[in-house]
Amino acid sequence: AKTAGRNSIRFFDPRMQAAVTARATLENDLRTAVEQGQFTLHYQTQVGCGTRVVGAEVLIRWNHPTRGMVSPFEFIPLAEETGLILPMGLWVLQTACAQLRRWQDHPATAELQLAVNVSARQFHQDDFIEQVVTVLRQTGARPDRLKLELTESLALDNVDDTIAKMNTLRALGLGFSMDDFGTGQSSLSYLTRLPLDQLKIDQSFVRNIGIQHTDALIVQTIIGMAQSLGIDVIAEGVETEAQRAFLEQHGCTLWQGYLFSRPVPIEVLEHRLHSALGW
Ligand code: C2E
Ligand code: CA
Ligand code: CA
Ligand code: CA
Repeated sequence: AKTAGRNSIRFFDPRMQAAVTARATLENDLRTAVEQGQFTLHYQTQVGCGTRVVGAEVLIRWNHPTRGMVSPFEFIPLAEETGLILPMGLWVLQTACAQLRRWQDHPATAELQLAVNVSARQFHQDDFIEQVVTVLRQTGARPDRLKLELTESLALDNVDDTIAKMNTLRALGLGFSMDDFGTGQSSLSYLTRLPLDQLKIDQSFVRNIGIQHTDALIVQTIIGMAQSLGIDVIAEGVETEAQRAFLEQHGCTLWQGYLFSRPVPIEVLEHRLHSALGW
């Protein structure tokens, strides 16, 4: 009872009050952003051996009218809590698929893939499969060019629903990558039940290659795990040539990070593809 009393007094702490107000403001602004379409997408290339571009990850940006670019780390959690992630996530999927459709028309870009982040709330909607099917039909995007990035916690939420949906979407040709791999609490035996196409090594491990011996070991373990499962492995947050070389040496030959490109607007990506692919 004492603790509760202390907490209720704390609620009137002016800093606490300010935080509550800031959150309410952010929520209002986010609602407006959804209505007015203040979002844009950035694309970060995914690169294979010989620095061949195999595709890109799609990352949402919020261009706030007064605050400028707001980081997804700030608004994605709130979007998830409020359910605003549902219209946002659908818009991301539609925009990414429309982009895939445009690339399909040119031989130089037809094989490029896009990886889209899917939040738990979005994935576990009853009609998520129908939404994906509708977007694919409306845009004409090839399903096998689309990869969905899921998180461990999303999959843990409801394992049976997750596996069933993944199998249905895979039958349509979509691929799945396990995002932030190694940061969750899930057991390996459970993860091997998921029909995955790719593990994505989290940047927290990549960052410490050559600094923290245990993280280098974790990276090697994840690569070994992907190899024994017969699936791809990609590393995110690759910033240095030393990190890239370590990864390659241990069998990870797909990379993403500032070493190759920051996330950029589509015009910038396409400009680079023009020169790189002779498109
Ligand atoms: P994530 O999926 O783990 O994405 C990787 C984040 O690392 C991105 O941050 C990316 O810009 C950043 N990054 C990439 N390469 C490097 C590097 O070499 N060094 C460093 N330090 N950072 C790098 P971003 O774009 O700010 O996105 C943050 C998170 O927001 C994402 O983490 C993802 O969880 C979420 N997010 C972004 N877009 C979407 C979306 O469309 N839908 C959903 N549900 N979540 C999204
Ligand atoms: Ca991701
Ligand atoms: Ca990550
Ligand atoms: Ca993530």
